Amino acid sequence: MQRLNFKLKPFKRISWTTEQIAEIWTKRIKTINQAFTAIEIESVFQGTRKAAIVRIDNMTFADVLIRTVSTSLLAVPIAMEANKNDQDGRLDIAHITVLICEFSLAGIIQDAVKKQDHETVGHYLGYPACCVSFYQQHQHMTSLLWPLAAQTAEPGEVSCELSGHEWLNPMLKTLGVQMISHWACSDRCAHSLQVAETNKQLLIQSGHQQALEWICQLLSWPMHFSALHGIAEIRLPVAKIAHNTDATAITYSVKRSGIDQPVESAVGGGFPFQVQSKPKLTKRQLFIKGQQSAAHQLQSRLWLDNGFQTEAGMLQEQASVIEGLHGLLADRSGGVLDLGCGNGYLLRQLLDNQSALFPMGCDHVQSHIEHARLLLPEHQQHFQHINMFSQALIEWLEDQPDKLALTLLMPGRLLGAKAGEKKRLLSGLKHNSELIAVYCYQDWVDEYGSVERLASAVDLNISQLVNERLALINL
Ligand SMILES: [Zn+2]
Repeated sequence: MQRLNFKLKPFKRISWTTEQIAEIWTKRIKTINQAFTAIEIESVFQGTRKAAIVRIDNMTFADVLIRTVSTSLLAVPIAMEANKNDQDGRLDIAHITVLICEFSLAGIIQDAVKKQDHETVGHYLGYPACCVSFYQQHQHMTSLLWPLAAQTAEPGEVSCELSGHEWLNPMLKTLGVQMISHWACSDRCAHSLQVAETNKQLLIQSGHQQALEWICQLLSWPMHFSALHGIAEIRLPVAKIAHNTDATAITYSVKRSGIDQPVESAVGGGFPFQVQSKPKLTKRQLFIKGQQSAAHQLQSRLWLDNGFQTEAGMLQEQASVIEGLHGLLADRSGGVLDLGCGNGYLLRQLLDNQSALFPMGCDHVQSHIEHARLLLPEHQQHFQHINMFSQALIEWLEDQPDKLALTLLMPGRLLGAKAGEKKRLLSGLKHNSELIAVYCYQDWVDEYGSVERLASAVDLNISQLVNERLALINL
């Protein structure tokens, strides 16, 4: 990269396509930022990592200090920022950068931070050595995005494509939307993927499933990065982000095709405002994947895919839904569709030994569908990587030889959906499914009180309440 000899002041601007989208996603990104900081702190308390350096407000700092009291951990402020809005001239500290680590390591790490000894700091923060050395090579740069992406480009090329794991997609780091806090040396770095997996589990264990889902959604949107004259622009389906970066006289661009689309996706325009064709998993890929991933790996992910912390937790939550559904499905035949099916585990439990019924599922997360196809191999064609709000879902339902016996919908998924898309989905279900059941798990009951209330929050009429988790609706 040929860099020019100037640097713009740091800035960051984000513009959303509509005010409604801005409201939804600004809140979600704030939730993501809080959740990610929380697990950075948590990882040290749990001993997953030796140290963390986090930027937190003074209330959070107070909480962390209190937590360290009965432990051998220490929380040391290493940088403070005064609140810029403070008009009385008081030193009102808005944010503090805090080092959290074992008492015995505090001196060593602080010293390494001062000396910019990235190797030592990176080691204690749990960053993979390959990524630390990549960072050291490029530490003079404002952003490491181009060096990272350029590894896939021909020498001298100024545009390229990232196609590695979405967890290592670095394009939204400027918003704090990430699965790892360090810069990975590549979006296929196996060590960084392990860090991301650990962070995923920490998010789930600390009750941040929702934030995790939003991070994964955002990182898998199609996006386009370009940088010129020190200004980087990232185009997303529903937003445009601008921030300072390394100044160059020519445009550098990086594209990520993405597999997911926000339900609020903007219509028209060029890439990335375009629905991508869904990558199909070939038999060979499935075979190789099946060989590689080994049964136990999938087994250990069964409940994680579905947003649960433990297997027991998942089984307990699903039990009353399954019991209620058995009653509804007695003497019926045909397909049972789960909208947002995760890895299909609920369907497998539900339809075990039911010869007249077969499972069908769709999910917007590609890996969930891959897992469902492995879990229910005889029904591979019945699991599709389809966004439930898309026309593709309706077409898929209409292609079925018979009406479905039942469709399962978690009403929370309709929150924030566009009116037109919701209408299309509901009218599609009305025409293609005999019964439509809504269900929810404890987290939604905690928030809304009951499945009935959650359903009414999205304007669904309940015709029969089966139990506290399950009901039939009338369309
Ligand atoms: Zn690496």
